[in-house]
Amino acid sequence: MSTAELRVDLSRLRANVRAVRDRMAPAEVLVVIKDDAYAQGVPRIVEAAIDAGASWFGGIDIPSALRAKDVAGERARVVAWMTVTGPEAEMALRGGLELGVGDAGYLERVASAARGADVVARVHLKIDTGLHRNGVRPEDWDAFCARAAALEREGSVDVVGIWSHIAEASDEEDDISRAAFDRAVSDARHAGLTPAVRHLAASAAAWHRPEFRGDLVRIGAFCYGIRSADGPDIPGIAPVSSLVARVVDAEADEVRIGIGSVDGVPSTLAGRVRVGTPGGPRELRRVDPFESAVAAWGGARAGDEVTLFGPGDRGEPTPTDLGEAIGTVGEEPLLRVSPLVPRVYV
Ligand SMILES: *Cc1c(COP(=O)(O)O)cnc(C)c1O
Repeated sequence: MSTAELRVDLSRLRANVRAVRDRMAPAEVLVVIKDDAYAQGVPRIVEAAIDAGASWFGGIDIPSALRAKDVAGERARVVAWMTVTGPEAEMALRGGLELGVGDAGYLERVASAARGADVVARVHLKIDTGLHRNGVRPEDWDAFCARAAALEREGSVDVVGIWSHIAEASDEEDDISRAAFDRAVSDARHAGLTPAVRHLAASAAAWHRPEFRGDLVRIGAFCYGIRSADGPDIPGIAPVSSLVARVVDAEADEVRIGIGSVDGVPSTLAGRVRVGTPGGPRELRRVDPFESAVAAWGGARAGDEVTLFGPGDRGEPTPTDLGEAIGTVGEEPLLRVSPLVPRVYV
């Protein structure tokens, strides 16, 4: 039987959000809550972030965003940026969401959804500044903005923002993207649009490069204490969630803990990391479907707690340490945690 739980430290989340907001001011911070707040549970995360002063949330998928809006009500604006069908867009608009729009056909669907719901759709127009992951290409941008301006006059949409997403792979590429972004904003103004909110940067660029902040920054990783893979520690930021399991069987050489690959522990971690135990860091030797084996420590007993990832208080790796051990990012170990593992808020 699994003895695992994902322990989510909401005071740590609040501290991270405060640290991020201090760093980004006067730019506002949109706390990214995609994938059910990176599998930590939207409602408690949103409530805690609001306590720490957050007034914007956003994510890719409509369900996470709708849940965030349900919790936040009028206390925060919530944006969803996945391109969806007309009926889904209508549901999003009825739920009070703002929509990211990076496609001419989608703009038309959002406008008719707004007419259907009898609301004005608040939209953030997305320019593709080189990442080629959705967004209107520069050569189509002027026509797109002209159409958005016509829909504004008609009363179905209100263009509240212009945005893009950058690779954060090299400063030089990001600078080229930023120049393209600035041109797109200026072209949008020429088309008669008056977007109040410009947003371009996510955690790393926003933290390290003030000139990328614009009016709003979209921060996922750093709010949850996840540093970039191969990136530096971020002062004032620590992982919010710990994945813990109990010892189910202790032998002289090895203990077995009640968590395995079906609970979301990547089996490729075996032999590659040391996890946190009451006796200090110990090698994770095997990951089986329902249990895993860890090198023993003196006095190990059934019921002892082992920490697979967390802030490091017990010698455990951080989510990013785990990601790096298997060639991926720090979000991955968190997103892999099975929905059947209880989330416990502390
Ligand atoms: C996930 C996401 C973010 C957050 O990125 P981090 O690097 O985790 O801060 C920002 N913008 C968009 C469009 C995203 O999808």
